[in-house]
Amino acid sequence: MFPPSIKHHCGLFGVYGHPDAVQFTYLGLYAQQHRGQESAGICSCDRGLITRQAGMGLVTDVFDPPILAKLRNPIAIGHVRYSTTGSCLQTNVQPLLVNYALGQVAVAHNGNLINAALLRDQYEQHGAIFNTTSDTEVIVHLLAKPSHLDRADHLVHILTHLQGAYSLLFLLPGRIVAARDPYGFRPLVLGRMGNGAIVVASETCALDIVDAEFWREVEPGEVVFITEKGVSSKWIAPRGSVGPAYCIFEQIYFADPSSDVFGENVHQVRVTMGGRLAKESPVDIDMVTPIPNCARCAAMGYSRASGQAYGRAFTVSHYAGRSFIMPEQDMRDLAVKMKLNVIKRNVRDKRLVVVEDSVVRGTTTRGKIGALKKVGAKEIHLRVASPPIRYPCYFGIDFPDPSQLIANNRTVDEIRDYLGVDSIRYLSLEGMLSCVKHPPDHYCTACFSGKYPMEVDHPVSKLAFEPDQLKMFE
Ligand code: SF4
Repeated sequence: MFPPSIKHHCGLFGVYGHPDAVQFTYLGLYAQQHRGQESAGICSCDRGLITRQAGMGLVTDVFDPPILAKLRNPIAIGHVRYSTTGSCLQTNVQPLLVNYALGQVAVAHNGNLINAALLRDQYEQHGAIFNTTSDTEVIVHLLAKPSHLDRADHLVHILTHLQGAYSLLFLLPGRIVAARDPYGFRPLVLGRMGNGAIVVASETCALDIVDAEFWREVEPGEVVFITEKGVSSKWIAPRGSVGPAYCIFEQIYFADPSSDVFGENVHQVRVTMGGRLAKESPVDIDMVTPIPNCARCAAMGYSRASGQAYGRAFTVSHYAGRSFIMPEQDMRDLAVKMKLNVIKRNVRDKRLVVVEDSVVRGTTTRGKIGALKKVGAKEIHLRVASPPIRYPCYFGIDFPDPSQLIANNRTVDEIRDYLGVDSIRYLSLEGMLSCVKHPPDHYCTACFSGKYPMEVDHPVSKLAFEPDQLKMFE
């Protein structure tokens, strides 16, 4: 379940060297549906020709498995998308597939390019025509630029022009190229299948579904070439010259708990964060309960560390539709009601710690707290397993405008009053960073700390490339 207040970004998957590459890509995208629900696409290659199946909606809506089963193409890449730059439009569905001077190329992107508007302006001033409103299209223009084509490593070279967050998959006739920006904001991993096929995925949960073994992460700044000759690497920037700046929000909220992200299991990290939260902010209560579903791991950790009982306050309907794409707040509130039922017997007259993974706008959390109060909860103490979100993200996460962030310019007491709880405590920044395995300066924490890992000169908003007519309807 995805709260409406944070939009996910994108998921990537690719297979090289298996006759069922297209079907496996379908499964790999399905396993990563939590990373994007607006659109899905697969490009596959057989005997030098790349074809594309793509559309708006969930993986199961877009693709027809019997049709995919007929595509015995041995190389494929796929993408699930939630738009962070570029609106929810058919033209923005990825992978993008274009023809340029060197032939066909398909591109799938997870992340956000902070200099995309600048690059697009430059190209448009020289007469370039863009077909999409997505930041990703600048990459194909960079590829096609005649002065770039002359370079031996032109694909690696063009990546040096990009600023911001990008994990990328390129499909060219007979090869896949996987690249991760030098900061490594977004995850990207390699796996191997039994027959020797190579798999690339945003998350390891997608390797599991196709029975691929985790091999290794694509390193920050690495460009991996997968061809019939094998796997080789080149580097966008000298290794270790910048970053890393792993997005810590992947651990808190985005990634699937079964995945290993940045070298450690997401479920375990969230349990540890919940335990740390219990130590930092104890309170005497009857039951620890999560806001479903994302906070379950953290609530488990809180319960274990505090020695207080874990119980369920809500049941979740799996059939209630997708509130996160409903445009109006009151519609989203209604969708939340349709999804969650309160287990009255577990809540009435009880003193509760309610654990939430993060609070963005606060509107949906407030609705859920209201539902608990309505059935007679005696006390509600909200414990948030991450620090207050006060700053925007420019690297691929669609947080609302800072003025809509509940923690922006509000004191903790004001937030407590707005949410209607008896107390609220957040996990400290230091506490959060003590729960992950890499040194603190290897993570991006900008939305919490305001410390951006790179200068953001030309931030790109979701509507940066939209015609005015579209802006009117946002
Ligand atoms: S600003 Fe926050 S959400 Fe964005 S990359 Fe950094 S940690 Fe992740």
